[in-house]
Amino acid sequence: MSTEFSSSNFIKNIVISDLDSGKHNEIITRFPPEPNGYLHIGHAKSIVLNFELADEFKGKTNLRFDDTNPTKEDTEYVESIKEDVKWLGFDWDNLYFASNYFEEMYNRAILLIKKGKAYVCDLTPEEIREYRGTLKDPGKESPCRNRSIEENLNLFEKMRKGEFKDGEKVLRAKIDMNSPNINMRDPIIYRISHSEHHNTGSKWCVYPMYDFAHPLEDAIEGITHSICTLEFEDHRPLYDWIVKECEMECAPQQIEFARLNITNTVMSKRKLKLLVDENVVDGWDDPRMPTIAGLRRRGYTSESIRNFCRAIGVAKANSLVDDAMLEHFIREDLHDKTLRTMAILRPLKLVITNYPENEEELLEIENNPDDENAGKRQVPFGREIYIEQEDFMENPPKKYFRLFPGNEVRLKGAYFVKCNEVIKDEEGNVLEIHCTYDPETKSGTGFTGRKVKGTIHWVNAKHAIPAEFRLYDHLILDENSEEEKHFLEQINPNSLEVLNGFVEPNMIDAKSEEKFQFFRHGYFNVDPKDTKNEKLVFNRIVSLKSSFKLDKK
Ligand code: ATP
Ligand code: MG
Repeated sequence: MSTEFSSSNFIKNIVISDLDSGKHNEIITRFPPEPNGYLHIGHAKSIVLNFELADEFKGKTNLRFDDTNPTKEDTEYVESIKEDVKWLGFDWDNLYFASNYFEEMYNRAILLIKKGKAYVCDLTPEEIREYRGTLKDPGKESPCRNRSIEENLNLFEKMRKGEFKDGEKVLRAKIDMNSPNINMRDPIIYRISHSEHHNTGSKWCVYPMYDFAHPLEDAIEGITHSICTLEFEDHRPLYDWIVKECEMECAPQQIEFARLNITNTVMSKRKLKLLVDENVVDGWDDPRMPTIAGLRRRGYTSESIRNFCRAIGVAKANSLVDDAMLEHFIREDLHDKTLRTMAILRPLKLVITNYPENEEELLEIENNPDDENAGKRQVPFGREIYIEQEDFMENPPKKYFRLFPGNEVRLKGAYFVKCNEVIKDEEGNVLEIHCTYDPETKSGTGFTGRKVKGTIHWVNAKHAIPAEFRLYDHLILDENSEEEKHFLEQINPNSLEVLNGFVEPNMIDAKSEEKFQFFRHGYFNVDPKDTKNEKLVFNRIVSLKSSFKLDKK
């Protein structure tokens, strides 16, 4: 069987050998987010891994909300997570909520108590921490450790009935206070929390801890390979202990892999939530956020994100991925998919003094010079146009080939123009520039009379549509600076630049989330939230150039 499949990572190898040996006939994976925030690109790595693994071996993947922490969770997050997983291109076989297993988990806890493997503890959280010991020192047993089974059953029932306050008592697994693995030193498995749960309301006031709940959730669903991130490696003995001592029929295998980290951003829901709550960004879907919703609004395609996740691979060692790699994949994806068009981000008016007043013409310009099938569009040309401010200099340095007094350049898809006069206000600011054009030099007519060194882009001043452009930079400054700084002190104050300019008239038909390549400026996405009939807003996805080289293995 194994020969049918490629085996390019260690998790795949485990799956192949489990199918070969007959340990499993079918594999079942799961993606288990806690609904306490929006998904980020790190989650995408886990989603792609779990769904594609099951897919490749004709197995199943569950989407399971790990909702055991009522105070942090919300249905808004549940909905956003479902939408993001779908948008990424994946469809779950089953949708589950850990909270639907609360009764069963409670019964398994009772089973542990009955077996003498769990006890109710009265120590305060601080005392529990103190008693736990350290890597060097063994732990100290709780005075409650040897309570009778009867007393434990009785107290646990009272906990459930709400007879104690938050934090007054906990249920702990009775394992080994001398274990070299601190996770095995009588971990807490149930706590009291009198709070509303997004799914179960006020039905419960005791909630299972992650380390107890997660293995049970996996086992209940018959998960064969429970893939999680590296920080849970030391929890694996506890995972296995819970599955065994709770007498679960199915024993899932926990496998850890390295989490994705990307330069100049943060990758944890807790930190991302802080950015939202502190209004550093404009919500979870701010285009500067590494969230799926933010990347989507920025203009990333789901295909580019999937390709990125496949390319970074799956390993056992933590690493930091250069965000230029993510940019590489969106450029690669959009290169063939987008039409080229002209946009002026910082307008400067140019008047063609010898172009007849009240006259205009339509010029044919290719939609994509690299793709004949993309066709041509008609662009109106006339006496007044806008060019980029940076394409004109009154006193240019050497090797500046764009417009300056006395110089001639090509207007893309149109004519040569020569700068004759600079019009300024009283303070010396350039208001507009006056040029003459040469009708002989019309683009596409095969004019060979003389050459110019620069080509600049433009839009027609009368017909162009006003537009807002949002340019982005890293949200977080260099994280690797010498001093350890809190990430909120590392926010890049210049992560957003808003410009008002113009786009070609045919952009009137641009649709929400439609993507374009603006000549020389990069790839842009029509912002789905702030674009209104009277105002087009474009988010820059990525500029055109990059120094990033992907090593193709
Ligand atoms: P966060 O710190 O962002 O809250 P988490 O691990 O607490 O992350 P969960 O909702 O528990 O978030 O994660 C769901 C799944 O996504 C888990 O299986 C987790 O291992 C995986 N995951 C989370 N962050 C990353 C990451 N940066 N890279 C790869 N996988 C991740
Ligand atoms: Mg978490």
